[in-house]
Amino acid sequence: MSYIEDTICALATPPGMGAIGVIRVSGPKAIEIADSIYRAPNPKKKLVDAKGQTLHFGSIVDGENLVDEVLISLFRAPHSYTGENVVEINIHGSTFIQRRMMELLIRKGARSARPGEFTLRAFGNGKMDLSQAEAVGDLIASENEAAHKVAMHQMRGGVRQEVAKLREELINFASLIELELDFAEEDVEFADRTALETLLNTITSTVNRLISSFSLGNAIVEGIPVAIVGAPNAGKSTLLNALLKEERAIVSDIEGTTRDTVEDEIHLGGLTFRFIDTAGLREAQDEIERIGIERSYAKIDQAKVVLYLFDASKAEASSEAERIQKIKDRAGDKPVIVIANKVDALRSADELAAFPTTDLQLSAKHHKGIQELEEHLLSTVEIERLQESDTVITNTRHYEALLRTQEDVERIQNGLNTGISGDLLAFDIRQALAHLGEITGEITTDDLLGNIFANFCIGK
Ligand code: GDP
Repeated sequence: MSYIEDTICALATPPGMGAIGVIRVSGPKAIEIADSIYRAPNPKKKLVDAKGQTLHFGSIVDGENLVDEVLISLFRAPHSYTGENVVEINIHGSTFIQRRMMELLIRKGARSARPGEFTLRAFGNGKMDLSQAEAVGDLIASENEAAHKVAMHQMRGGVRQEVAKLREELINFASLIELELDFAEEDVEFADRTALETLLNTITSTVNRLISSFSLGNAIVEGIPVAIVGAPNAGKSTLLNALLKEERAIVSDIEGTTRDTVEDEIHLGGLTFRFIDTAGLREAQDEIERIGIERSYAKIDQAKVVLYLFDASKAEASSEAERIQKIKDRAGDKPVIVIANKVDALRSADELAAFPTTDLQLSAKHHKGIQELEEHLLSTVEIERLQESDTVITNTRHYEALLRTQEDVERIQNGLNTGISGDLLAFDIRQALAHLGEITGEITTDDLLGNIFANFCIGK
């Protein structure tokens, strides 16, 4: 591939002012190019003579002009992120210095890197497989603890190991069966059919496990959509505000955080819960009356968890039970948390006893019971399953490749049962291998790589 010949450079930190910025240079000439603009405190010291994995303090100069004082990390191929010679220059984070540095490097022979090109090189040089390269992007994009954990596990080879092992054993069978084809006249069986069946069962169970992890993976990455539904004036907006306020209070308690909380999202137990159609909650009452039920149903359909809220101080038990049932029918398998609100306005606790099907009683207005609701919300997601070592599929591309593998394996199993010919069997096994190989990148196309890496930021 041609990209190995040139040397690329990019600002790896976000552009704009900051205490420091990092410029990354990778390629066969990375060290020479950096050396041509570097002055060590001891002028005899050159980067080109330096060992790999070393740090160097010094100046960057453009001719006689001093551009910046810097710290340079130097890596020699193949012991670097990309597998090539890599220099990372820690500069002072001024936009002017960032621009000057890039201009200088380009003038000295480097080329501006395309999005994800460093990681693409790492993949091309066998430093990581495709699933790991994709996890680098996921890690950078991770916004909560669970997403971070899953991306970290994948980056360290979680998906690769699962898939590579299955592929390896399947390759063995493919070769044995293809060998049989060479001896077609002698009617021999090198590939033990029973062992193949056992392997297919193992593949099926691994593939099924990975496929079913996708729904959790999706929830982790995208946030878990929650619908708050109930009659007008039940206290839905008040409850949402109470939940969001709790979130803001927690965030602003963390010293030094200036991060804006995303409106209508809360973070619990390392997961993000996203409240859908919150604008609808704030609309004028008559508008809600008019479109209430359809809107509630549409929200339930989009949600993964439903909060159904009613005003306990006004509700009537029998009609409430009927509404709750309707909501639950619509929700199907989705958890519905039934909440009696405004318990502060009840005259006696006995009044609540009339609503046996409630999961929680709270007062949104007085922030009573919010924590219990949060705990309840969290318990609806099977997050306790998520261990550091669990492989969770978060990537749609992997998910689709796994679905196709599942079909292939079924076809092979059927073929074995009906005793299809060796060449057809070999063909089906090759298909399964190709689909598994798509995940790790053993089988790729330029288009696919282009698509994946175009979503990366420049400098990664
Ligand atoms: P929504 O139409 O379901 O969004 O209801 P709102 O959140 O706008 O609340 C309707 C009214 O009920 C407002 O006047 C709230 O202050 C009041 N309200 C909400 N929660 C409580 C509560 O826990 N106790 C009491 N007493 N009033 C509440």
